Amino acid sequence: MVTPAADPLDRPIEPIATTPEARAAFLADVEAELPGVRLLTDESDRESYRTDETAYLRGELPLAVALPESTAEVSGLVRAAARHRIPIVPRGAGTGLSGGAAGIEGGLTIAFTRMARVLEIDKANLVVVTQPGIINAELKKIVAAEGLFYAPDPASYEICSIGGNLGTNAGGLCCVKYGQTRDSVLGLEVVLADGSVIRTGGRNIKDVAGYALSHLFVGSQGTLGLITEATLRLRPTPPSRATLLAFFATLDAAGEAVAAMMTAGLNLVTLELMDQATIIAVDDWHGLGLDREAAAMLMVESDLPGSAAAEELDQAEAACRDAGATSSVRAADAQEADWLRQARRLALRALERQGTVRMEDVGVPRARVPQLLNAIDRICAKHGVRVATFGHAGDGNLHPNFIFDRDDPRAEAMTETVRDEIFHAALELGGTVTAEHGIGTSRRAFLEMQRGQGAVRVMRAIKAALDPLGILNPGKVV
Ligand SMILES: Cc1cc2nc3c(=O)[nH]c(=O)nc-3n(C[C@H](O)[C@H](O)[C@H](O)COP(=O)(O)OP(=O)(O)OC[C@H]3O[C@@H](n4cnc5c(N)ncnc54)[C@H](O)[C@@H]3O)c2cc1C
Repeated sequence: MVTPAADPLDRPIEPIATTPEARAAFLADVEAELPGVRLLTDESDRESYRTDETAYLRGELPLAVALPESTAEVSGLVRAAARHRIPIVPRGAGTGLSGGAAGIEGGLTIAFTRMARVLEIDKANLVVVTQPGIINAELKKIVAAEGLFYAPDPASYEICSIGGNLGTNAGGLCCVKYGQTRDSVLGLEVVLADGSVIRTGGRNIKDVAGYALSHLFVGSQGTLGLITEATLRLRPTPPSRATLLAFFATLDAAGEAVAAMMTAGLNLVTLELMDQATIIAVDDWHGLGLDREAAAMLMVESDLPGSAAAEELDQAEAACRDAGATSSVRAADAQEADWLRQARRLALRALERQGTVRMEDVGVPRARVPQLLNAIDRICAKHGVRVATFGHAGDGNLHPNFIFDRDDPRAEAMTETVRDEIFHAALELGGTVTAEHGIGTSRRAFLEMQRGQGAVRVMRAIKAALDPLGILNPGKVV
């Protein structure tokens, strides 16, 4: 008779070190074994690693923050942490919106700020090899100097790191054409939970040898391994973009225009939406002369070569008109297009001028964007919560932002209720509770509801296999 294999999920995970003695022994080991690693232990230094940008999460104070400069140092830190059962939080630039990089009481935060070098640009193979701490915009600038383009483009690209983008599988403003971060990843170097180092993938465009491990680590929010190097896909620099803004009297009309542009097969690089509250906040800040009466605005961009871009925008404009656009305007030149795009990128900051903002990240199949927009408005109106919604409509990904007074505890609790109802509405539409920001700590309660028990069990089995002691970012994702 065959004995069934032990279920990895039934295996007890060793307790995390909680005693002051264990923590002191860990710090003493790190100082003795890795004297070159900068280690922050002062409370004032550690305080700034308590949270990420998730305004409503309090986070916990890490025991220490390490700033390694090499893979060998990361590996040494992980080995010491495993020996003493110290939880580890990998951290990029801390701009995440799910609590993924938030500190853990008694844990070691490993911040990749000092591992921020581009190691190689392989022009012949359109590949860049980089350390994870580099800021996305910096990487874009370095490859642009070689006539190359790194596509992934989160709105936070000037402040977030490639490691964080890999950790969250970040999206952004050009996914509709170029995909999410994962679509630009060819290979990784990863430090596993026992300190060993593996390489996944490589420079091959086609490669099906074994399981797709790179894809597994991307988006795992530091719960399966620490990414210390990435081999990323580049493209030749596309032509500068042609930009169209279209205004609509109803959210439904804007949603219909999105669906029409997608089904027409347009190869747009940007298809972003702002609702009226966002239009007004952005216009108040930047004085762009946007139509403040409009219920919604679409920003549509093409990066096709030569006259093809203008022709593609002609088709987009016709689709908007047919859907009932009240007006449309094109950027006069590349500089004006940059201003408009920058204003869209800073939409969250514009809203933050009005109060504390809780940003959510729901997604639905693209054709259901109008239903999701209506559900968001209906739910927020029912509970009297102020909301401003913008997002990547071409990907079916919307960010409802709840604006409230931080000192009003009732308001903050109410945003929780509203958020939960919006999550249910998104799931009923066949959508997701997070399209690009990640489950982190803030959306854990909804993972099983969305994915189902069986799928989450598989995730936990993978986690248990790769991190049997449960020291990698515990309490996040699964
Ligand atoms: C104004 C604003 C706009 C934003 N716009 C977008 C947007 O358009 N699209 C989008 O997707 N996000 C957006 N974000 C969210 C955020 O910028 C992204 O999630 C980004 O990818 C986080 O990068 P980071 O370097 O700040 O990572 P962090 O917040 O430090 O970490 C994010 C996650 O990755 C893990 N991690 C970090 N480094 C590593 C590593 N080396 N190995 C393994 N795991 C690691 C962390 O543990 C954590 O779970 C926005 C945020 C702000 C504040």
